[in-house]
Amino acid sequence: MSQRRTTAILERAGLDDLVEVLRAQGRTVIGPTVRDGAVVLAELTAASQLPFGWGTQVEAGRYRLVPRTDGAAFAHTTGPQSWKAYLHPEREKLWSADRTADGQLTVTDERPPRPSYAFLGVRPCDLRAIAIQDRVLAGGRYRDRDYEERRSGAFLVVAECTEPGATCFCASMGSGPGADEGFDLALTELVDEAGHRFLVRVGSDAGGELLSAVAHRPADPGTDTAAHHAVDAARERMGRAMPPVDLRTLMGGSLDADRWDDVAARCLTCGNCTMVCPTCFCTTTEEVTDLSGDHAERWQRWDSCFDLDFSYLQGGPVRASARSRYRQWMTHKLSTWYEQFGSSGCVGCGRCITWCPVGIDITEEAAALHDELAERLRQDERTEPER
Ligand code: SF4
Ligand code: SF4
Repeated sequence: MSQRRTTAILERAGLDDLVEVLRAQGRTVIGPTVRDGAVVLAELTAASQLPFGWGTQVEAGRYRLVPRTDGAAFAHTTGPQSWKAYLHPEREKLWSADRTADGQLTVTDERPPRPSYAFLGVRPCDLRAIAIQDRVLAGGRYRDRDYEERRSGAFLVVAECTEPGATCFCASMGSGPGADEGFDLALTELVDEAGHRFLVRVGSDAGGELLSAVAHRPADPGTDTAAHHAVDAARERMGRAMPPVDLRTLMGGSLDADRWDDVAARCLTCGNCTMVCPTCFCTTTEEVTDLSGDHAERWQRWDSCFDLDFSYLQGGPVRASARSRYRQWMTHKLSTWYEQFGSSGCVGCGRCITWCPVGIDITEEAAALHDELAERLRQDERTEPER
């Protein structure tokens, strides 16, 4: 059931208030901003740092910033980072150990302090991705204490999508372009003859309290309708779609598909797709020592199923070929993730398509696998002996 309870309208100045109040509450506000030719996530000290007047053009293996004349703040698609950069950081020192003069060891917990985060401008697909990482890292038998501590107090302000990118396919994964639950506040940005404004919906008590502390006015039916239409129109203009088939059956029936050779001929096994994916969660730990041997550190960093070391067991990697590694990644995302965590591992954000250096497209690969499996089943039917 869609939670589309309209509560208020924020003007542009209300967005300034929002950031100020969140910071006054002691929160570290993270949101999109323009840096190095991309919309990236960074700490914001003022709403003016949002990417007002910037949009993005994306395609397989391609990302460009493009100026916009309407001054919209959230008219861009997902950038190279996702919120896991803050909740489940790429690299983190866990502890260090030092040898003392009397030959003993002292061990120091090096985990940095946990900020109280507010995430501003979370896309609906990324909101779903956070829920998926909640399940993976904090919802099962083995829990990541560091993730839980970062996530527990995080305040989430969603920005619904009205400008989908050419690599987005959240509509076909049921994770966008609108948001129904899991947020504190949800914004829908509108820039039209009635002005630049944000329709706000409240999703939690904390969201309601925050809204009461910032300048706002009651929502009018015209803005409410316009916001609904903008999100519905985005759904219709989605750049890509996953084939409308049972993906679990498809992947289960495609283990020996010829298509894996085709993708392996293109895949560089660079692992970019896993680094940018908002749900990929694998990490490894490594120890480093200084030259004296008196100081050692343990670090945790993201790992990738595209690395040969990832599946190294007793003398060699289990998945030595590019074929087996791409198949593992895609099959896990679309199929075996359900067995492990009860949902798809893909939210249709399109990042793995945009940031793949050779433009491999998970929706195109799924469609090709579907065609190959359908053809194989047709052939099997033709060759099946009559009883
Ligand atoms: S699919 Fe693309 S991004 Fe992923 S490992 Fe292969 S080349 Fe790299
Ligand atoms: S597999 Fe690709 S489209 Fe799906 S969530 Fe990961 S990066 Fe986004």
